[in-house]
Amino acid sequence: MRIGVIGGGASGLVAAIYAASSLNEVVILERNNVCGKKLLVTGNGKCNYFNEDMTLNHYYSSSGEVLDRIVTLENQKEALSLFTKIGIWPKIKNGYYYPASNQAVSVRDALQLEAELLGVKIINNFLVEAIIKKDDKFIVNPLSNSLVFDKIILSTGGKAMPLSGSDGKGYDLAKSFDHTIIEPCPGLVSLCGAEKYFKDCSGVRCEVKLSLYENNQFIKSETGEAHFTDEGLSGICTFNLSSLVARGLSEGYQEEIVINFMPWLDSLSAVLEFLEDRSTKVTGRTLFQFFEGLYNYKLIKVLLAKAKINPEKYYDELNKKEKHALAKTIYAFNLKIIGTNSFDRAQICSGGVTLNEINPYTMESLKTSNLYLCGELLDVNGDCGGYNLVFAWISGMIAGKGAMND
Ligand SMILES: Cc1cc2nc3c(=O)[nH]c(=O)nc-3n(C[C@H](O)[C@H](O)[C@H](O)COP(=O)(O)OP(=O)(O)OC[C@H]3O[C@@H](n4cnc5c(N)ncnc54)[C@H](O)[C@@H]3O)c2cc1C
Repeated sequence: MRIGVIGGGASGLVAAIYAASSLNEVVILERNNVCGKKLLVTGNGKCNYFNEDMTLNHYYSSSGEVLDRIVTLENQKEALSLFTKIGIWPKIKNGYYYPASNQAVSVRDALQLEAELLGVKIINNFLVEAIIKKDDKFIVNPLSNSLVFDKIILSTGGKAMPLSGSDGKGYDLAKSFDHTIIEPCPGLVSLCGAEKYFKDCSGVRCEVKLSLYENNQFIKSETGEAHFTDEGLSGICTFNLSSLVARGLSEGYQEEIVINFMPWLDSLSAVLEFLEDRSTKVTGRTLFQFFEGLYNYKLIKVLLAKAKINPEKYYDELNKKEKHALAKTIYAFNLKIIGTNSFDRAQICSGGVTLNEINPYTMESLKTSNLYLCGELLDVNGDCGGYNLVFAWISGMIAGKGAMND
């Protein structure tokens, strides 16, 4: 049996490893001159490949019940054991798994070596433009340099960071087999705000709690370090809200982020109390100086401007209304979000081939027999923390086994 794996990224390499057996000829067709180009840049070049906390609330899909049958505890354990087997020793930091080598390239190389040791053939510089099914055989690129396979595993990725090779071509290939695509949106990406404050505090990093509101309705909050950029907000806590924002904006909803600059306090009155208490200890200082050591200078300016308070004033000089405005700005600084950065700058994309058209136990298409799909091409996305790679590993593993066994 000849199995063609379209795309030699994270999910394709794992699928090929599991599909390989003495009875099968497995061929990876990769458009780049190397496999796993995107893998090399994961985790800032260190590859965050797994997470200690694998609860499913870190994932999003419009077919959550199908996803539950894919990312099972058993599959997580088996995927993790592959990394032990190929020599990747974990270094775990705050629950995030990295290779002890600190090199993403070692993950890519170890996976590729395992595939090659199992006899997988890799053809680089091979762009798959079309696949047709004729008399139970799949013909890849029927019009030029055609190759014939009994089974196909589609592992082309989505359309985030297209320079890495995943430019959305996979959606066309899936569509040619009648699959439905949930509109792809950028994910794990920075957000663009409507206000002009951002330029004033560009470069500032600050611990915050971000709460996302859609059409004035609370959706989700995240706590962590936000990075202010020229256009808006970045950082892991922002990223974890971004795919929800992108989807909401694409559906015409109003998206607003409310920032709590004292994330350890959970009410406006607690912030007011904190300020009152600080004013008894930090005395003889203008308001600009009053916040010294608590916030970055650029941020102090922005907070006081937003609260419409003169930075030269003293805390004790503020009237009740001004104190309330200051506390409100610190506790619930609202930002209207008008967009996200593009797919070029996104780490992942949400949306993709609906899971409702996939058998979760084999990853086989319910539309076309002997066609398997895995990885980011599917309508699944995860938070920062290794979740997207875990889905690529697990779905690749199931697809590889599915193709080998059937
Ligand atoms: C900067 C950055 C950092 C990231 N860091 C992390 C992290 O630390 N942890 C984490 O979990 N996730 C991370 N991700 C996300 C993660 O890399 C992806 O979710 C994962 O790589 C998806 O795997 P995949 O196999 O579905 O797709 P990809 O890894 O994108 O692989 C798809 C492959 O298919 C090939 N291909 C596409 N179309 C064709 C075609 N028509 N013909 C032939 N070949 C084709 C592509 O060239 C590519 O090699 C990061 C992403 C980025 C961009």
